[in-house]
Parts: sequence; C-alpha cells; structure tokens
Amino acid sequence: MSNNVNPNLTKEPKRYTVSIVRGENIVDRVNKAIELIGGMKRFVKKGDKVLIKANLVDGKPYETGETVHPETIRTIIKQAKTAEASQIKVGDAVTSWDMTLYNTVAKIAEEEGAEWVDLGRSPRAEVKVENPVFFEKVSVAKELVECDVLINVGTLKTHHLAGVTVAMKNLYGVLELQDRIKYHRLDKIEEVIVDLNLVKPSSLIVVDGGYTTHHWPAFEVQKMDLAMAGDNVVLVDAVAAKVMGADPKAIRYLRWAEEHGLGSADIEKNRILGLTIEEAYRAKTVNMVDYINKESENIKIIIQGACTGCYGRLSTVTMQRFDINSAKTKLYILMGPNAKLPNPMEKDATCILCGNCLAPTFYNRLQGTHVPGCPPDLEAFAQELSNYLSPRRRLTRQEWEKIHKDMEAKGIKLPKDFKPPFSQEQ
Ligand code: SF4
Repeated sequence: MSNNVNPNLTKEPKRYTVSIVRGENIVDRVNKAIELIGGMKRFVKKGDKVLIKANLVDGKPYETGETVHPETIRTIIKQAKTAEASQIKVGDAVTSWDMTLYNTVAKIAEEEGAEWVDLGRSPRAEVKVENPVFFEKVSVAKELVECDVLINVGTLKTHHLAGVTVAMKNLYGVLELQDRIKYHRLDKIEEVIVDLNLVKPSSLIVVDGGYTTHHWPAFEVQKMDLAMAGDNVVLVDAVAAKVMGADPKAIRYLRWAEEHGLGSADIEKNRILGLTIEEAYRAKTVNMVDYINKESENIKIIIQGACTGCYGRLSTVTMQRFDINSAKTKLYILMGPNAKLPNPMEKDATCILCGNCLAPTFYNRLQGTHVPGCPPDLEAFAQELSNYLSPRRRLTRQEWEKIHKDMEAKGIKLPKDFKPPFSQEQ
C-alpha cells in the first residue's frame, strides 16, 4: 500500500459505527464488540499483513488502567488468523526497564504464530504527510507503513495534555524516543497525533476498557469491564471521551482530525451498538484539572467553555514543574470564554486569565494577570506560575505507599513485582 494513500479521506458523509460491551470475561467481551461491528473478516482479508498496535505504555500492569490486557491481544491475534492474515505483528514502543508485560505479550505472539516488535526501535520509514496539521514529514516504525491493516488497540484514559488517550494517541508508540521528546519539547503533541493518523488510518479500533484511569499521574482507577470496537478512530475517541465524562468538543485534536478528513466525532450522526454511552458510563474519570482542584489547597482552576489548548498546557506545566500545594494564598486560574471569578473573592486571592478567550477588555471587566495566546505559550505560563508556586519534588516512598494503600482499599491489586514510580533510594 502506498504511504500517501489515505482510504479514509473522502468528501462523502459516511456513517461510522462503535460498539460497547460490558462483561467480566475479557475474551468474550472483545469478541462480542468486534462481532457487533461486522466481525474481523470485515477488516482483515485473506493474505493481509496485519499490525496490532497495542498500548503497553511503560509496561505498567493492567490493573493500573494504563495498558491493554495480554489476553485482549491474544483474542485479536486469533481472530486475525481466522480471517487468514498472511502476517501478524504486534507491537508498541518499549518505554520501561521492567520487561514483564512486554515479555508476556511477546510470548503470546509467539504462541499464536505472530511476531512481537518494539516499534520504538525497529527500522524507521520517513513518510510525507498529505495535508498535515503541522508536520509535513514524520519518521515512524516501518511496520506502520508496510502493513495492509492497522488494528489499533487502546485503553480508556484521560490525558493531561491531549484530553484523552484512547485510539488516536495510541499511534505515538510508533515514534522513536528522540522524536517523542522532540514533539513534547515543541509542544506539538496534538498536532503530531493527527499527522500520525493521517499516515496510516486505523482500519479496526478495539478499546480494552477493563479500567479507566487518569494517565498521568495515574492511580485514579475505576473498574469498567468494557470493550469497545469501531471502524473510525475519531468516532471511537469521541465516544470513549463521553464514556469517561469528558467533552469531545473540547478536544482540539478531534476537531483537527475531522477537518483533515479522518472521520467524525459527531456521535449523533453516527451509530453506537451494544450499550449506550449512558449505560457504559459509571462515573467521571478524573482529568488533570479535577486532580489539581482536588489535591491543591489553594489553586482553583475554573473552566467554562475552554478547550485542551488552554487546560492541557496549564495542567502539564503545573504538574510537571511545580508543587501544587506551595501556593501561599488562593490562586484562581480561569480558562474558557465563559469562566467567571467567584464573587466575592478572598481578599488576598490572585487570578491568572488564560488565553485569548479571556483577554481583559473594557467590556468584560476581567481582572488578573493575562497569559495571552491561543493556545497560550507554555513558557509564559510557567513564568507566571513561578511567581506563586515552588518547583515540584518527586514522590517519596511514604507517599507512594499511601497511594498503594488507597488503591488496595479500592480493591485494586498490583502485582508483587510492580516497581513504584520513583528511585528506590528516596
Ligand atoms: S484561548 Fe484558545 S486555547 Fe484557550 S480556551 Fe480559548 S480557544 Fe482554547
């Protein structure tokens, strides 16, 4: 298949389908979700080369909600084999020293006649992106452009910068480490997400929704026992966002993906089979703004009508660089055109107004320090916040143990060999 051909780019309005299934048994729910949207043979034809891109980020245990269950992957391999794929590869970028999960998936691949690939280290392909959001060329794992069918297997997570990380962002795992760092440094994650999906649109999307979680910092986990399948990556991300209580309309990369012909985030105009979103929904998945508002004594983020351009930047810079409990007095951070300050405000409170939507004018009478831009500049944000907050420190062992205990209290068990996310010396 040519690198430049994008089979999803079409002017014709098309109706896409997403299925949602709940059940304790992983294999049954994954099989059912795929069957509801037409079965594997709708996507994989005899002789096709299949790449299964699974989210195995940092090799974290399934119970953290961060990664796809190995049995989900086995189920998909088996189905692709039944559809007579000529070659099946399974991969993700290996991003952890702990190889337990990657080794398990590699073993499953071997047992089922597939091949495991570290997509962050396999040979690269330099690909021109047709009509990109930003990057005219990207360097990706060769397997991505060589496969006939891309099966995108993600999880149900909110994300500090992009809003959610389900299917579209899952393709970040075809980049090598230096590029991952580069896109973070350029603050162009959302742009490159769409450009990667333009390089190779996913044919079939499966979401392992055993748990939902807040991707970073993790540990706000809910057991969901869901599986989803879909024939359009944009719609799957939009439906998944709703299932987690996030607003797809606030997610910039979904808007760009629609504008660039990758599909539709319009849930009303498409089709959901199996459970409805309301039936699948259990409770709102924490996002970074909720997390900061809950954990910080003095920071209050007020959002009304904001998009990920503002709150993605704010939450990233706040959590990555600052101690969110170091503000001495109340600090209100406002985002979105309709955000309002509490009235009356505490006497010594200060206010930061984010982005062009909240530029103070004679008419709106907004008062506070304004960080301009759409989206606002990360460094300008950081500079402003440094007037109120001290630099962030890493988790101590005691804090980690408290997190671990809280998880156990919720009935979430981590494997004995799970390594905490801090140096053992701390
Ligand atoms: S200023 Fe721009 S980035 Fe911020 S909420 Fe408004 S539209 Fe979004």
